[in-house]
Amino acid sequence: MNNYICVTCGVQYAESEEPPEHCLICEDERQYIGPNGQQWTTLAELRQGHRNLIQPQEPGLIGIGSDPAIAIGQRALLVQQAAGNVLWDCISLLDEATIRAVKGLGGIAAIAISHPHFYSSMVEWARAFGAPIYLHADDRQWVMRPDPAIVFWQGEQRTLAGGLTLARCGGHFAGGTVLHWAGGAGGRGALLSGDTIQVVSDRRYVSFM
Ligand SMILES: [Zn+2]
Ligand SMILES: [Zn+2]
Repeated sequence: MNNYICVTCGVQYAESEEPPEHCLICEDERQYIGPNGQQWTTLAELRQGHRNLIQPQEPGLIGIGSDPAIAIGQRALLVQQAAGNVLWDCISLLDEATIRAVKGLGGIAAIAISHPHFYSSMVEWARAFGAPIYLHADDRQWVMRPDPAIVFWQGEQRTLAGGLTLARCGGHFAGGTVLHWAGGAGGRGALLSGDTIQVVSDRRYVSFM
C-alpha cells in the first residue's frame, strides 16, 4: 500500500494498492495534466532526488521549498511566533532533515493552507509535528487524503493563535484563503496570499485570481 503523489500537482492521495486512475485536482480546469499523461510518485521516491531548502525571508518568516522543484514549485512559509509557529501552505516533500531543521526553528503548532493546489503531503506534515490542518470547508471536496488532523473552518474569517487571521477570499477556489499576520513586516502587517492575490512584476500592483 502506498500514498501516491501526483507528479503534476504534488497532491498526496489516500492509501491504495495501485496508483489512482485519475488526479481529480489536475483534471479540474484550474490545473492541467502534462503532455505525457497522468504520472504518480511516492514520498520515498521524492526523497531520493530532492531536498528542501529552508530560507529566511524576513524576521519570523521562513520559506521552505524543494530543490529541484516538485510539481508546480510550491513553497511553504513558516511564521515563527511565541504563541506557536504556523506553517502557511504546504509542500509534497517531507524528510528527516526537514523535520530536524523545522523542530530547531520551534516546530509547527498549526498548518493552514490557501487552496487545494497546496494540499500536497499535508497529512505527513501534520503527523510529524502533531499539528492540526486548517482548511476552508468550501474546498472539502478537494481533499484527497482525509485525516482526523484536518479542521474544516467555515464563514469568512478564523482567528489562529498569536494575531494570525485566516480570511476567505474565494475567487480561484470557493474556499481560497489568505493569512493576515499582524506582526509581520516589522509590525506593519503582512498578507500571505498563496496565488489568490499575486504581486505583479513591477511590485506596484497586485492581481486577483
Ligand atoms: Zn494532480
Ligand atoms: Zn492555485
